[in-house]
Amino acid sequence: MANESPVNVVIVGAGLGGLSAAIAIARSGHRVKVVEQAPKLGEVGAGIQIPPNSARILERWGILPKLREGAMHPEFIAIRSYRDGSLLSLQKLRPLMEDVYGAPYLHIHRATLHSVLCDEATRLGVKFQLGATATGIDFEKTAVKVKDQADVAADFILGADGLRSACRESLLGRSDPSHNTGDMAYRVVIPTSEMKKYKELVDFATIPSFNHWAGPGGHAVGYLIAGGSIFNMVIIVPDELPDNVYSAKANVNEMRDKFKCWCPEFRHMLRMVTDVSAWKLRNSTEMETWRHPDGNFALLGDACHATLPYLAQGAAQAVEDGAVIGALFAKAQDKDEIKDALNIYERLRKSRTSRVVQESSQYGAVMHLPDGEEQRERDRQMTDHEPFEGY
Ligand code: FAD
Repeated sequence: MANESPVNVVIVGAGLGGLSAAIAIARSGHRVKVVEQAPKLGEVGAGIQIPPNSARILERWGILPKLREGAMHPEFIAIRSYRDGSLLSLQKLRPLMEDVYGAPYLHIHRATLHSVLCDEATRLGVKFQLGATATGIDFEKTAVKVKDQADVAADFILGADGLRSACRESLLGRSDPSHNTGDMAYRVVIPTSEMKKYKELVDFATIPSFNHWAGPGGHAVGYLIAGGSIFNMVIIVPDELPDNVYSAKANVNEMRDKFKCWCPEFRHMLRMVTDVSAWKLRNSTEMETWRHPDGNFALLGDACHATLPYLAQGAAQAVEDGAVIGALFAKAQDKDEIKDALNIYERLRKSRTSRVVQESSQYGAVMHLPDGEEQRERDRQMTDHEPFEGY
């Protein structure tokens, strides 16, 4: 869309949040450059869930058809007891999600989502400066300070540089509004060609579905990605990583040992795992502000609202941030109105993202109940009835 008074926007970070903002702002007719520390564009990790609230936005941007090609479309969500694998809850996702929310629930490889977003940003004229590590923001000059390189000046700057945001540090000083939650995630992938050899694992390996195991002290999710060739699992346990270590390679046997009391199918899957990484899970405490008072800078994504991933909303909320910023930039007539737009963005987004952070924690508390009466009551209630509330 042409804009009569285009502005120059620099976004720090080419993660899922930064790319979404880049697409949305470029669509509203402004000039966008993304400054990224990595020498090559890419995304870490295997699977990611795209819930309908972000799928709807990706549809509006015209890239959902491309994503659907590489995505799995789960038929149902099944929650099982860790103890014997018995079904506690089964709910339809397809076609319910599209009927109710007008957009699908998808499972996809992170690399696919990232590359589709990159392609779309490039198609819209977004420029990338790779191998450029931002060390902070010069708010007076509205410029990104880049290690060993010239500053990158703009009319507006957005900090989408994730959990350990240098942009946020420039805004707030050293105080980090995120904190350890006490949980960490094991991330593993299993080739479904292996799983299909065993009768009790065939359904997991062939039916697109979203599988949960509710445990004591943790829970696990598993779903198919990459055309059904990979079963992607995220397994939550109490955090054992040192304080300042955010992710690390983990020991497969030590991981397996933690699940000796879990159902046979689950243990069987873990026996097929050859590599595992552990990720510290952090939550943001709501920050007083996401913006610089001069109105030329704002944060988005994990940099300002990191959340436990239990509702699959981290990246989805970052996509929403980008969409809201883009829609507001499209309506603004001049730079003063864009300053107002960033103010409105913050007001619109803070309460919603704080709710997501809180509800993800609450979900964890329920799914991690220790053995005992409360856990039995949880399982009873899930078995009886569990109305679905989505975003
Ligand atoms: P990031 O992805 O962290 O991207 C930040 C970018 O900035 C990176 O490219 C980085 O290299 C760059 N950068 C950092 N510092 C600098 C610097 N100083 N200078 C220049 N560049 C810099 N969300 C979902 O929606 N669905 C899910 O199913 C889901 N599952 C998850 C499972 C796990 C185990 C975890 C840990 C998270 C999950 N999430 C999920 C959350 C999701 O991954 C994040 O919320 C999302 O990726 C955040 O995107 P972001 O762009 O804000 O930050």
